[in-house]
Amino acid sequence: MTISIRRFRSDQADFAAQMDALLSWESVSDTGVQQIVTDIVNDVRKRGDMALIEYTNRFDRMNVDSMAQLELSQEQLQTALDGLPDAQRAALTTAAERVRSYHEKQKTDSWQYTEADGTVLGQKVTPMDRVGIYVPGGKAAYPSSVLMNAIPAHVAGVSEIIMVVPTPDGELNQLVLAAAAAAGVSRVFTVGGAQAVAALAYGTATVPQVDKIVGPGNIFVATAKRMVFGVVGIDMIAGPSEILVVCDGDTNPDWIAMDLFSQAEHDEDAQSILVSTDPDFLDAVAASIEKLLPTMERADIIRTSLTERGALIHAADKADALNLINRIAPEHLELSVADPEAWLPEIRHAGAIFMGRYTAEALGDYCAGPNHVLPTSGTARFSSPLGVYDFQKRSSLIQCSADGASELGKVASILARGEHLTAHARSAEYRIKD
Ligand code: NAD
Repeated sequence: MTISIRRFRSDQADFAAQMDALLSWESVSDTGVQQIVTDIVNDVRKRGDMALIEYTNRFDRMNVDSMAQLELSQEQLQTALDGLPDAQRAALTTAAERVRSYHEKQKTDSWQYTEADGTVLGQKVTPMDRVGIYVPGGKAAYPSSVLMNAIPAHVAGVSEIIMVVPTPDGELNQLVLAAAAAAGVSRVFTVGGAQAVAALAYGTATVPQVDKIVGPGNIFVATAKRMVFGVVGIDMIAGPSEILVVCDGDTNPDWIAMDLFSQAEHDEDAQSILVSTDPDFLDAVAASIEKLLPTMERADIIRTSLTERGALIHAADKADALNLINRIAPEHLELSVADPEAWLPEIRHAGAIFMGRYTAEALGDYCAGPNHVLPTSGTARFSSPLGVYDFQKRSSLIQCSADGASELGKVASILARGEHLTAHARSAEYRIKD
């Protein structure tokens, strides 16, 4: 069965409109879902653990009557890590170490400086006290998400990391538990969906209230995170996964087809786009897609994703391809070209940039080191990968000397009187030397 992926040429008259249609995506727009989530969040806020237990029984087909049955012990996590087959434990440990070393580099320290009159100015950096990490678990288990969310928090110095993960039908995924042990998670509750987000945001008798909730999830999770933002911090509202591959035509087309599949297999809404200045190469990749699709475990999901949201785009030249990159602001950008360094200065918007033919995006998903929680749906225009900085906050420091207060007082007084804020003005004026 042939698969029809849209083909575009950037010199078509209606190309801009076609791109707008291709890229349009609103992650949290369904009013039916909004209502369901509002009801769940309000109920958990009001009835706490009882509501959490009821929703967990209903949505994850569980049969528990106490929160003790929905919490895992540190021993269970450690046993899961110890009990993994050697190859799996080694791979998990290697991934965790690489993610940790990369994130260590992101740590920022407090700083301060002293002005000539003795006034000291600075910034004090403090980790958050307690954060919640949402690990999705509805349709699949994601041990890599545990590492990517928990390790930066740990590196930042967060003292308590509370993880929530749904376990439909009560089935525990040993790799997820092992990853929680490897990443230094403090407590794990086997709850998910909007009810888990609400429990973390407002706290229940059992689940501690956190300062920030991070981690991806389905539309119920994303909608709940948006709803509780303000009560707690959140990292981002993640849309479906995306990849933009830009290829000069000299990479094996099978490699490129598989790289496109690697995002498409996430879910039907995922988006995989290939841009090349070589139309023959687009044909070659289309042929590889036809050839390889039947060999894929998730062929149906890949087919839907590529048909509904995928595209093969013929760019006129390199400048044109660069414009497209910045227009799309992709979550993942693969630069499958001879000299990726030469492209870099012109690239302004991308969540993660995978440089050169050997750098498959999949390596970044698991173990290269950088975070795989990335801005989607064009939000790389204004946001960054999840990182240590998401778990550190900053306080400004000001310590005026007598001379400094006198000089600053004159400036503040004039500005405060301009705003008719007399107390501000007089507070500053008291400190002006005669
Ligand atoms: P999930 O944990 O996000 O959601 C499962 C929960 O959804 C259930 O526990 C239930 O409480 C709730 N739910 C399901 N149906 C409901 C209904 N009808 N009413 C109310 N609540 C309901 O797991 P999932 O569904 O497998 O989704 C995971 C998502 O996370 C996918 O979209 C996946 O692509 C994404 N993901 C993203 C990344 C990333 O880094 N961007 C990584 C892993 C997963």
